[in-house]
This record gives sequence, structure tokens and C-alpha cells, in this order.
Amino acid sequence: MGKRAYNFNAGPAALPLAVLERAQAEFVDFHGTGMSIMEMSHRGAVYEGVHNEASSRLLQLLGNPQGYKVLFLQGGASTQFAMIPMNLLTEGKVGAYVKTGSWANKAIKEAKLIGETVVAASSEEDKYMSIPDLSKLQLPENAAYLHLTSNETIEGTQFTQYPDTGSVPLIADMSSDILCRPFDLSQFGMVYAGAQKNLGPSGVTVVIAREELVNDSPKHIPSMLRYDTHANNNSLYNTPPSFSIYMVNEVLRWIEEQGGLQAVEKNNREKAALLYDAIDNSGGFFRGCASKESRSLMNVTFRLADEELEKQFIKLSEQEGFVGLKGHRSVGGLRASIYNAVPYDNIKALVDFMNHFQQQNG
Ligand SMILES: *Cc1c(COP(=O)(O)O)cnc(C)c1O
Repeated sequence: MGKRAYNFNAGPAALPLAVLERAQAEFVDFHGTGMSIMEMSHRGAVYEGVHNEASSRLLQLLGNPQGYKVLFLQGGASTQFAMIPMNLLTEGKVGAYVKTGSWANKAIKEAKLIGETVVAASSEEDKYMSIPDLSKLQLPENAAYLHLTSNETIEGTQFTQYPDTGSVPLIADMSSDILCRPFDLSQFGMVYAGAQKNLGPSGVTVVIAREELVNDSPKHIPSMLRYDTHANNNSLYNTPPSFSIYMVNEVLRWIEEQGGLQAVEKNNREKAALLYDAIDNSGGFFRGCASKESRSLMNVTFRLADEELEKQFIKLSEQEGFVGLKGHRSVGGLRASIYNAVPYDNIKALVDFMNHFQQQNG
């Protein structure tokens, strides 16, 4: 096998090598069936076994809380931005949003097309470089839900704790940090994530929701956009993205093999500390973008003195086998996405490269 790239892509992103190898071994003949998992009926027992295993494994990793359902949907997290208000923002209610950056703003934009929204907290004044303090959050009495973006992938900020919203369902877009650490699902009405960052390949969106939020959708919504269609048909109302779901199941198995979410968190903290320390100890040559208390464990955003130097950094890094270090086009700068599957050694290699680059250009 050729050398694996030092993959710091933001999404689709690195997958665990062990998962790719297992998928490769099972690719042409899945468990002696003479077929790939991709070639099977989604109504057959073999596929359904994988499908149900993925769902129960996910709940198991989250401590098997009662009253939650896992849905496997399509259309990305971006479709959830619309499905949430379509299904839950009913007449007379208001959708409350925490405005933390690029992805939160996209969620708000969609909700505004559907109904009334309110910004419950915002870090816009801080150019989205921090997570607002939600300890004194006041929610309107008629709030249908509070929506937050657990990790802002583009700005590189992340919630460290989630607000207590009482009887108002808390909904989190966890696309870029789901399963990076343990979390208490019972605090949430719903969490959702496009799979292509921390859960698997693109093509499937995972929704974990309290049953009462997804069992009875307003009747005027088209079938595919109703949560109850999917909840009441075990996400098999129509053809699911079967190969992507199979891959999610394998990534979840890999997380179990790592020792579960606590072990994953420990690794992630070590990885992030290695990189943030390199930035902080560079004497200002590298500068972290997010404020320290809001720094993401998953997306490390940083800058150099000027754009010319950043261009040079990216060009040289690519020559050395590093992929995906360019910041999002909307904010510029540099970004290393260090999701669960990115090995510690790759970050070590990046830090060595950064030190070398500073020696040459500092
Ligand atoms: C990537 C991302 C999305 C968009 O996901 P798609 O699956 O491409 O629609 C939404 N929210 C966050 C936080 C993301 O990182």
C-alpha cells in the first residue's frame, strides 16, 4: 500500500484505516453472500441486520437512554436546517437559535423561510471567535426549541457545556463533533450530524431524537420531509444510503474498540493540546483564531502574519504530503481538522512541519 496522506480535510474527512481495510476485505463478498452490501435489497435480512446494528450501537455508545430513536436520512445536515422548523416550528411558536457562526447562520436562514425565529444568544460581536455564555439564557415562553451548533467547523469554536433549557427541547447540530467526547443525550430533544466528519462517509445524516418529537409531524408536509415517515418506518420508508450506513456501523465499532467515548475524548484532548501548544508557543508566529476558552477539539483555526505567508505555508505543506490545511474560503487563514480518525502521529508530523516552516520564515 502507498503512504497514507496526512489528511486534515474538514469534510469529507479522514476515516480510520482499520475501517477502510475491513470494508475493503468485505467489499466484493459480504459475509459469504456473494454480493457487496451495496448490491443487496434494503428489505433483506442481511442489510437490515447492519442497519439495526448501526442504530443500536450508536445508542449503546451514548449509554442507551430511554425514549430516543435513531434516524438515517439523506440530504445532509443542511436538509435538517429546513426539516427541523418544518416539523417542529408550528403556528404560534418561535424557533430560538444560538448564533455562533457560519453553520448556525445557515440554520437560521432556513428557519426564517418557515416561521418566526429569535436569536437567543450570539457571538457575532466577537466575530464568532467565541461561544456566548448561555448560563443566563432567557427563552421565550412559546419557544418550539433552542437550536445550537455544537462545533463551528469554519470558525473553530466549540461548546464545552450545553445549556439547561427546561421543558424547551434543545436541538444541536453536531455535524463536526458528534462522538468526539461523551455527552448526556438526555439533555437534548434532538441531535443531528452529517456523517462525513466524525461518523463515516458522506451520504447519510444521523438524527437522534426523542420519540415524541419525531412520531407525529404536521400533516401538510411532504412524506420525505416528515420525521414521522422515517421514525415509523425504521428509516426504511424508501431506499436508504445503505453503504454509508454500513460504514457508519464500522466507524462505531471502531470507537468501541478504542475503548468508547471516554477513550476517544482522551485521545482528542491530547491531539488538540499538541497542536494548540505549538501555536501558542510559536512566539506569535502562528496565531490561534478562536478565543482560548472556546477552542474546538476538532477544527483548529490559525493564522500567519499575512496572506502571502499563508499561501506559502499551504503550498509547502502540500508538497510534504499534508492535505486540507487551507481555511474555509469564507474566512481564509489555516485550519487543521483533527477528527476522531486523525491519528496523533499525523498531528505530530504537522507540528514538526510548522516548527520547520517557522525556522525558515520566522
Ligand atoms: C459540514 C457541516 C454542515 C453541513 O453538512 P452537509 O451534510 O454538507 O449538509 C452543517 N453543520 C455543520 C456544523 C457542519 O460542520
